[in-house]
Amino acid sequence: MAARLGVRRWGAWPAAACRSPPVSCRRWSRASADSVYDVVVSGGGLVGAAMACALGYDIHFHDKKILLLEAGPKKKLEKLPETYSNRVWDACSEALIMFDKDNLDDMGYVVENDVIMHALTKQLEAVSDRVTVLYRSKAVGYAWPGPFSMADSSPWVHITLGDGSTLQTKLLIGADGHNSGVRQAAGIQNISWNYDQSAVVATLHLSEATENNVAWQRFLPSGPIALLPLSDTLSSLVWSTSHDHAAKLVSMDEEEFVDAINSAFWSDANHTDFITSAGTMLQYAVTLLKPTKVSARQLPPSVARVDAKSRVLFPLGLGHAAEYVRPRVALIGDAAHRVHPLAGQGVNMGFGDISSLVCHLSAAAFNGKDLGSMSHLTGYETERQRHNTALLAATDFLKRLYSTSAIPLVLLRTWGLQATNAVSPLKEQIMAFASK
Ligand SMILES: Cc1cc2nc3c(=O)[nH]c(=O)nc-3n(C[C@H](O)[C@H](O)[C@H](O)COP(=O)(O)OP(=O)(O)OC[C@H]3O[C@@H](n4cnc5c(N)ncnc54)[C@H](O)[C@@H]3O)c2cc1C
Repeated sequence: MAARLGVRRWGAWPAAACRSPPVSCRRWSRASADSVYDVVVSGGGLVGAAMACALGYDIHFHDKKILLLEAGPKKKLEKLPETYSNRVWDACSEALIMFDKDNLDDMGYVVENDVIMHALTKQLEAVSDRVTVLYRSKAVGYAWPGPFSMADSSPWVHITLGDGSTLQTKLLIGADGHNSGVRQAAGIQNISWNYDQSAVVATLHLSEATENNVAWQRFLPSGPIALLPLSDTLSSLVWSTSHDHAAKLVSMDEEEFVDAINSAFWSDANHTDFITSAGTMLQYAVTLLKPTKVSARQLPPSVARVDAKSRVLFPLGLGHAAEYVRPRVALIGDAAHRVHPLAGQGVNMGFGDISSLVCHLSAAAFNGKDLGSMSHLTGYETERQRHNTALLAATDFLKRLYSTSAIPLVLLRTWGLQATNAVSPLKEQIMAFASK
């Protein structure tokens, strides 16, 4: 979805142009009649809706006007979440890493998008006196105050909606996804590339009911395949693979698709004797050093069938905005960063952005400062770019490291995975970092 937006710097029209103004210029000269909001969040996906909610509940925002704009319709509930732990392993060897904790509640949660969205929608309704939500309302133009502002112009960001109506805001938050129109209109550079992979997602039925509380991920040379538990009998599939293979997977018949999944999880076709021996040697050495840490290997559940019409394909890519903020604008979620799903961190990074930005905005509101001022927006940018760039780089590195079956690299990652698996404090650090 590449939103086409009217990119105009407010007030940047030369005087001659305004004698015979373009449509947008004429419309904005009536700006005083527009609604003025303290904050407008453009994009009501998981991240934008959570941002509007967090502001709606913030005590220092009790007298503020907040607007959430969402191009799509209001969404409804599907299912309830449970708690899980993770297993990650390499298809070219027996090496694996296990992330778990004595208290599973602390480890993490697998929650479906629809469930989070439903909860957020309910919370937004509860703060409807402060947060206005406009569904089916696409922003089609943004304009910022510029150095040549006209005398009757306001200093706020001007927004035009698809139906031609206009409004203004002191702070515009772009939560409009990886093709962000806010980012483009603000002229913020985005460093991005497409991966040679697409992800196939689907809802799967297991062969038998089981205590299905483990998230499995296996790194195949063509890309990682992950099975995320939903209930005792259901799991969600995220299979990243070449574009051609992904297209085949979504079009093959059900039986063939299920066979392909089971084979991807169970097949030893990519193993070599050399790597297996090298891995066994290191495992033996680890066992000698840490005799108490020998644990039985668990196996993933087998799949019996796929939910009809649940197979969907997503092209994958990486993106990172060079700046997260400009005067009167901030980017959050996929508008600021797009990541490969192998670490399951995309929306978590967006929630981390919210936590940081709300903290800075709340302090600004408490101190009576201008919400759109760079003095506190840069604090948010510094905090989040430091975290997000590290996670993006690590995810991109893992994607590349596991996209090969070259023996030296397979050996390196086999030993790396085994060594990391043996060092509990290191695994705890990884889990702590990923949850920020
Ligand atoms: C295959 C796959 C698997 C994934 N798995 C995981 C996972 O396991 N864990 C995880 O944390 N993340 C995962 N992610 C990433 C996660 O889905 C995204 O990071 C997350 O959805 C981003 O949310 P967002 O709200 O920033 O953007 P989006 O979900 O893209 O939402 C943007 C919203 O803005 C609206 N919008 C756009 N333009 C306008 C406009 N001009 N005016 C008004 N509204 C507008 C859109 O309608 C949309 O609702 C996965 C991604 C993929 C592709």
